[in-house]
Amino acid sequence: MRCPFCQAQDTRVIDSRLGRDGDQVRRRRECSACGERFTTFETAELNMPRLVKQDGSREPYREAKLRTGMLRALEKRPVDTELIEAAIHRIEQRLRGSAEREVPARQVGEWVMEELRELDQVAYVRFASVYRSFQDVSAFREVIDGLERDRPGKRDDD
Ligand SMILES: [Zn+2]
Repeated sequence: MRCPFCQAQDTRVIDSRLGRDGDQVRRRRECSACGERFTTFETAELNMPRLVKQDGSREPYREAKLRTGMLRALEKRPVDTELIEAAIHRIEQRLRGSAEREVPARQVGEWVMEELRELDQVAYVRFASVYRSFQDVSAFREVIDGLERDRPGKRDDD
């Protein structure tokens, strides 16, 4: 989101909280160029594609739901709130960037897994176990093997 003070493109979210009944998010942002801070209010489902679930039904994207799912996986894990917010932000950017009116819910789940994998491996396995509902041991094995094959070292911050 562009800085309203200097028009720089590179602003980051420093705080994000739910307002009203959970459908609106209030974000504090800081411009990396001029250091100014400003607030944005976001009503997520207005701009977001709708999610297509496995059974073919559609539902609006809800940031609250995404956050709840991620926080559940990250419960009691040593991960900075700011990093979690940044991850949510990236997922939303990908959703918007899809330029589709509808996106499979499954796709969003995969993006969440990619982010969690970078943030915290325990959270990643927790989420994956619920999300992929490990129907057999081999599916679980696959996730663990994937982690062992490809240990994330330092992530490159942008
Ligand atoms: Zn600025």
